[in-house]
Amino acid sequence: MTAPPLVAEDLDLHHIAKAQFDRAAPFTSNVDGWKGMAQWLFEPERIVEVSLPIRRDDGYVFMFRGFRVLHSTVRGPGKGGIRFHPEAGVGEVKALATWMTWKSALVDIPFGGAKGGVVCDPRRLSLGEKERLTRRFVAALGENIGPHTDIPAPDLYTDSQTMAWIYDTYAMMHPGNANLPVVTGKPVTLGGLAGRAGATAQGGVFVLEHYLEMGGIPGLASLDGARIALQGFGNAGRHAAMLLHEAGAVIVGISDSSGGISCETGLDPGMVGRFKDETGSVVDVPGSSPLPPAGVLELECDVLVPAAIECQITAHNAPRVKAPIILELANGPTTPAADDILSERGIKVVPDILANAGGVVVSYFEWAQNIENQQWDEASVMAQLRRRMRRATETVMTRRVSMVEAIDVYRDRWHGLVPSQRKLGLPDLRTAATAVAVQICRDATEQRGVWP
Ligand code: NAD
Repeated sequence: MTAPPLVAEDLDLHHIAKAQFDRAAPFTSNVDGWKGMAQWLFEPERIVEVSLPIRRDDGYVFMFRGFRVLHSTVRGPGKGGIRFHPEAGVGEVKALATWMTWKSALVDIPFGGAKGGVVCDPRRLSLGEKERLTRRFVAALGENIGPHTDIPAPDLYTDSQTMAWIYDTYAMMHPGNANLPVVTGKPVTLGGLAGRAGATAQGGVFVLEHYLEMGGIPGLASLDGARIALQGFGNAGRHAAMLLHEAGAVIVGISDSSGGISCETGLDPGMVGRFKDETGSVVDVPGSSPLPPAGVLELECDVLVPAAIECQITAHNAPRVKAPIILELANGPTTPAADDILSERGIKVVPDILANAGGVVVSYFEWAQNIENQQWDEASVMAQLRRRMRRATETVMTRRVSMVEAIDVYRDRWHGLVPSQRKLGLPDLRTAATAVAVQICRDATEQRGVWP
């Protein structure tokens, strides 16, 4: 087993995105003249940084900072969430925008990638302060967002209410236009899509079900009776817990930013949710045992679902992960060094750009519905989501097999690959998914040509 590195891991998210890109690149075709093309595909098209002065409820003015990164418009307008987080930063937002580009390509959505972040602690903002901050951010971004240029959505600590404020602010600044498609994840009463709130989790569950049906984990053919641990109990994690529980899985552990809980015989996610609504945390749910902060990641279970924040599975704790499969609902929860250790241990990681792509698929449906001035029904949204997620799962699994078969052919291009992959010759699902996406973006770029 690979020993954890003696030096600290590089947890810069943009460096992580680059390492993943570099691993996938040798598996894309036609690498002649690759260097300039690789730079073009990887570097963001635009980075906007804005100052956001807000009057707090106590009357004092406070300055926040916000970012919006447009990674790529090669396949369509930029698309990606806005997060409110104390540790948001431009490197992180660049990485998240890059993954949005790959995600849209992988699930065949005609969008590029973008992401935004505001550096703030949303738990210390009143509702009024959060609204003023959101509106000021939209005003400061000006024409950098728009229904056909860059379309925001919810992410960490932003929700349908935040999206409603974004829409309203943009609409006030652009009177007389049909502005609903400027943002997705809106309330259903405001052009939102029925089923949007649970779509990221539902997409992940569709992927996991199909992966198991296709024999991804020998001996685990369905979710019925599967033991699941989840890190994060917000939009993605809470919906996932509900859906997995409904599918017959046993939820053996849940954590949020305050701590974790476990129960051998299974937690009722509905009850845990009501408890969190009342107390603000999952900690101390009756009948559960407390877990140390990151303990949920090391629980004995069949499926581990990181659904919180990035860089949670690292070289430090990857040797102690016990689940044979990890479904990444969060963006960037696993570092490249952890990927190596997991791969060597035979643990399968269903990567974020596949596992959580349900959010962008349904965002696309909402955007299309707004453009058409229609209201789609939930059943057809879910049927289309299921079809796309299953197709993307098959594409990634097939690509991985063909990459393994092509290993000999690509032997001389292996210098970029990690020792474990070189030794085992087994590109992981992340590398396969990234290779598929980068190839699609590269083909589109070649077809469009270099202007002028
Ligand atoms: P959210 O704000 O609704 O919930 C985040 C959850 O993570 C909360 O329960 C919080 O307590 C928990 N958390 C934060 N830090 C933690 C820590 N250190 N340990 C354990 N739990 C912690 O956010 P969300 O929308 O559910 O997003 C979660 C992840 O999923 C993010 O990585 C996000 O980028 C990704 N994602 C979300 C969507 C979506 O549609 N919401 C789509 C794609 C990807």
